[in-house]
Amino acid sequence: MSPDTVRQADADRLRYHRAMRLVRLSIRGRASWGEWLEQEGRSRVRLWTAPPYLAGHATRDEIDVGPTVCWLAPVVPSKILCVGRNYRAHAKELGNEVPKEPLFFLKPPSAILAHQGLVGLPPESQRVEHEGELGIVIGKRLSRASREEALEGVFGLTCANDVTARDLQKRDVQFTRAKGFDTFCPCGPWVVTDANAEAERDVRLAVNGEVRQHGNTRDMLWKAGELLAAMSCAMTLEPGDLVLTGTPTGVGPLLAGDRVTLEISGVGTLEHGVIG
Ligand code: ZN
Repeated sequence: MSPDTVRQADADRLRYHRAMRLVRLSIRGRASWGEWLEQEGRSRVRLWTAPPYLAGHATRDEIDVGPTVCWLAPVVPSKILCVGRNYRAHAKELGNEVPKEPLFFLKPPSAILAHQGLVGLPPESQRVEHEGELGIVIGKRLSRASREEALEGVFGLTCANDVTARDLQKRDVQFTRAKGFDTFCPCGPWVVTDANAEAERDVRLAVNGEVRQHGNTRDMLWKAGELLAAMSCAMTLEPGDLVLTGTPTGVGPLLAGDRVTLEISGVGTLEHGVIG
């Protein structure tokens, strides 16, 4: 590598390996990136020009955010790539075999919903279910990457609900419609950087305060590095892309009026509502 390349690589490392919680908020009607700070019980945001993986940097502007903060999703991905049946117990609860290789599918970026948003139940489905999942945000372009390159390319982690119209998933065979309705991908509240994508994390999803899913990422059939490497052999992963890593057992129905909380240890707590 040339000295310039080395310097650039060092700069990249500094940008990626600084621990922060990257948020996107609507501030005075403008979508703004920022670093979530908590100081003496007050929530503040230091504004960024863009996410670090798009060469953004911190500004000197810091603002107070009140309880009525307007959250936006902390990612604007070119695609959302998901894996089905990545936890043995979940494959079993749906009566499926554990696959021999990871089963990928896409959700459209139009399905994204921010923290504190509302999932809309579409009239075409009688059975919409939650799937709490660890989300991985890509920081570097990955194509036919090794496991190590893939892990190096992780920007950070978030919480995501892979909302699914179960009846349509079975009827359509293809997952596109069942997984792709508007609002079917709540994610956030932020992206935690400098986090080990393969660490053991509790994944706990509750509906109206009752825990429905409680698993741990240690039970994934394909861990983050292997999973991203395999995905990158099918298609190039771009900075900002969102990868959902599969759901543990305990999926169940969502009804109008439900409040959903998804807590992932070391990442955060995503909350959203449901409307008919
Ligand atoms: Zn899923």
